Amino acid sequence: MKEVWDTIVIGGGQAGLASGYHLQKKGLRFLILEANGQAVGSWPNYYASLKLFSLARFSSLPGLKFPGAGDHYPLRDEVIHYLQEYAKAFRLPIKTNQRVESVEKTGETFMIRTVSGDRYESKTVINATGAFQHPYMPVIKGREKFRGNILHSSEYRNPTPFVNQRVLVVGAGNSAVQIAVELAEVSRTSLAVLRPVKFVKQRILGQDLHFWIRAFGFDTFPIWRFGGVVPRPRAVIDLGNYKACLAAGKPDQRPMFASFHADGVIWPDGTKERVDTVIFATGYRPHLAHLRNTGALDAEGSPLQAAGISTTVPGLYYVGLEGQRSFASATLRESVPTQNLWCENCSVI
Ligand code: FAD
Repeated sequence: MKEVWDTIVIGGGQAGLASGYHLQKKGLRFLILEANGQAVGSWPNYYASLKLFSLARFSSLPGLKFPGAGDHYPLRDEVIHYLQEYAKAFRLPIKTNQRVESVEKTGETFMIRTVSGDRYESKTVINATGAFQHPYMPVIKGREKFRGNILHSSEYRNPTPFVNQRVLVVGAGNSAVQIAVELAEVSRTSLAVLRPVKFVKQRILGQDLHFWIRAFGFDTFPIWRFGGVVPRPRAVIDLGNYKACLAAGKPDQRPMFASFHADGVIWPDGTKERVDTVIFATGYRPHLAHLRNTGALDAEGSPLQAAGISTTVPGLYYVGLEGQRSFASATLRESVPTQNLWCENCSVI
């Protein structure tokens, strides 16, 4: 007879692995299905110079401390290594190269099908597929005419291909500013912004920002209980160097351009400028196409959920949605303070 699992977790990034940790503690029978060849989430796809915006001591998943000195800001590759060690430490039951193509609910159980033709049946499903599969780019007039290079920040790895170019980075968040500052070293780079970049100090009274966020309870405060999704503050976390670079015009920031022309962009005052490359650091949207036949999504493909619990499909849960429960949702540091909230979920399971 075919096995019916208690839970199938879709996605082997930090959200899926942390889910696995809690499921294991509860003694549930589960599998984590990961589309790629290893369960380290999207981190290998992020740009090479990426440094976490939270100190190592605030970046641990439940049950395993982030290695190294607590007061350093870990690099991308340290996160990858940590996630590999995490899966090993708890012997999490992960199946790699299992991209989930569809989920259906028939009666009391879910049928999960993968692209490679495998099928899994389970009583519950946790979706932990992140947002990286679905980069968002705004629609801008004249884009089809532009003969230069357009890419999303998810495709950016390092500055080498852009040396001596005229580059625009669209966006005012952490990724936009980090990429633009790095590019400004080798190319003529501007940030194109809807609103001027806002900064928040990474160190306040000698402590990392996340120390204060935790001390004041913002990481765990369940704002979602007072309605809807928790908005993420839109400010660039800065030790001071980003602000200084922008003040020095490396890069400069300008109001967002109005449209493209064949060789560049047209600024709001009508000036035309030649541009080689435009990089959109404009974020991501959840990519949940595999859930489309469950009735779990709205017309735009967003999940109908409250605090990670599907409001339309009993037994379907989400981990790692932005603004799902607190300001820390969809970051590495969510997993520690939300253990109790997680137990709420587990008891539903
Ligand atoms: P992901 O890491 O995207 O993992 C999802 C996994 O699901 C992937 O392995 C994917 O292959 C798999 N998957 C997707 N679809 C399917 C499917 N259909 N079937 C099976 N598997 C599937 N957070 C911080 O805390 N600090 C930071 O400094 C920080 N910096 C960031 C910088 C950038 C550029 C970005 C984009 C995000 C950053 N974040 C940071 C936010 C967050 O921590 C990361 O995005 C993190 O990767 C999210 O983890 P996740 O597990 O939710 O999703």
